[in-house]
Amino acid sequence: MKDEPNQELLAVDEIRRMIDLYNPCTDDYLFVFDFEKDSYYISPHALDRFRLPGSSFHNVMDTLLDVTYTEDRQALTDDLTDIFATDRSSHNLIYRWQGLDGQPIWINCRGRVVRGEDSRALYMVGCINEIGRKQKADNLSGLLGETSLKALLQGLRGSIPDGYFLRLGLDNFKSINARLGVEYGDMILRRMGDFIMKCVHHEQHLYRIVADEFMIVDFHGGTVREATDLYMDIRRSLDHFVEENHYEAFVTASGGILKCEDVRDFSWSQIMKLSEFALTEAKQLGKNRSYVFTQEDYDGFMKKKKLTQVLRQAVANHFEGFEAYFQPIFHSEDGTLSGAEALMRFHMKDEMVMPGEFIPILEDTGLIIPAGRWILHEALGFAKKMQHVIPDFRVSVNVSYVQVVKSDVVVDIMDALKQFDVMPDHLIIELTESGLIETDTYFAHLWKQLRESGVKLALDDFGTGYSNFHYLNELRPDIIKIDRSFTMRAMSNEYEFNLLSLLNGMVKSLELKVCVEGVETEEESERIAVLPPDFSQGFFFGRPCPKKDFEEKYVRAS
Ligand code: C2E
Ligand code: CA
Ligand code: CA
Repeated sequence: MKDEPNQELLAVDEIRRMIDLYNPCTDDYLFVFDFEKDSYYISPHALDRFRLPGSSFHNVMDTLLDVTYTEDRQALTDDLTDIFATDRSSHNLIYRWQGLDGQPIWINCRGRVVRGEDSRALYMVGCINEIGRKQKADNLSGLLGETSLKALLQGLRGSIPDGYFLRLGLDNFKSINARLGVEYGDMILRRMGDFIMKCVHHEQHLYRIVADEFMIVDFHGGTVREATDLYMDIRRSLDHFVEENHYEAFVTASGGILKCEDVRDFSWSQIMKLSEFALTEAKQLGKNRSYVFTQEDYDGFMKKKKLTQVLRQAVANHFEGFEAYFQPIFHSEDGTLSGAEALMRFHMKDEMVMPGEFIPILEDTGLIIPAGRWILHEALGFAKKMQHVIPDFRVSVNVSYVQVVKSDVVVDIMDALKQFDVMPDHLIIELTESGLIETDTYFAHLWKQLRESGVKLALDDFGTGYSNFHYLNELRPDIIKIDRSFTMRAMSNEYEFNLLSLLNGMVKSLELKVCVEGVETEEESERIAVLPPDFSQGFFFGRPCPKKDFEEKYVRAS
């Protein structure tokens, strides 16, 4: 940009006097760089902060390079050379000067080149401010905002500092605002800003990035340990504050810690993304705690995100990629086929994803409702077909507590039985104990309705977690499925075996049936045969497989 010739040229000496006049009024550093005399003058208070030979000096280029942090010298040289070589009139550079202790300090230097009539550069006047301090502050908390953090990162120009980001977020801030009012919420934010300010040391930077989130930046080699300690210090001040206020608002904060070296692409968007992930993790781990970012966790999160997307598409796309597998269940007494358990599989490209990975996602997203309906139809269609050969063939279908609580699963089951013309007592609905406890009332309702309709009920995964014997009598499921972990314990431990044996006897006396799951070897099957349970299921007897294989293996043979 070419400037108009200056009408009111100020003499450099006058500018120096003005700088002196302004000196007590501002934290910024004003300067004038006289090109003709090769001299420089800067607000005297700059000497309290930077390694300068004096507020006035000659041989400017060399002296400026001297005070500039080594890594930024080239950038400064390039910028000033360009000013001399062209008719550019503005200088705007974010870089680092060395403090009195030799440590780098981020500055934003903005200047204006004043040219004479012949367009010759006469001098530059300008202002330097420390971007880590007081500039562009947020009016509420008095802290720097997003723009300043962006500027700090831009100023790095590709070099990756050693240190960390600590992203702090207030837990349940929305409910504090809703319960105690926005003004109270604002007060909390201000106090939070003060607490953090007191805990960080002067070379760390603090920003308020979004409504209730703060970012502490340490580019001075801070370790994860130090970041965690810092988080704990802040937490303690917050606890103290809550106590002093007699728990009027129970304010806590979570912290996501991100090491600089873990940010592969050191850009604003990437840092925001990864630090947000870290903070979210901390909150998901129960809030009022910190979490340290690891690439492994992030990869797992991304994979889950991708899988969620693919599952959603697959459900919308007529369950493309879903497949029903069937695992045979045998009568223990004579080894004849009783039926099969339907187990969901999902194909993503060439890879088969196992239920352990995708069922929780289907549950979290509610997709288990349509997917559960789909497998119910697959299972009943398959049972109908099997019954042409084995009239008593029974099919077991797993039902998630999400289906119980969030959909009318009884209606789905009844409709499907009608549609596929299968007798209710040829369908076994499997429900897990852990689901029951959480959904007691829904569950009792479902249980009653299914029982009245004649559908059979199985209590799945018995022997994991909190097995509750009182359920057996109260709910009287038709079948108890002994989980593989219980079976395994019984194989290696006499006490557990006796327990299994007693349970088997007790269940029989209640006129319920027992199915032992997870029998893998001949030895295990022989040991189990001593009990014996009513039904056996496991890899030893047959692995889950597609319909076609199932027919080939078990139907032609029987
Ligand atoms: P589950 O209901 O307990 O199903 C039995 C699991 O044990 C199946 O795992 C089966 O492949 C496995 N298994 C059977 N025999 C053996 C054995 O001898 N050794 C070992 N190590 N494992 C054996 P899968 O298919 O991976 O399913 C895991 C879980 O995912 C199921 O446990 C069930 O809770 C859930 N799931 C599967 N399909 C569905 C479905 O359609 N709906 C719902 N809601 N959940 C499902
Ligand atoms: Ca099951
Ligand atoms: Ca099971």
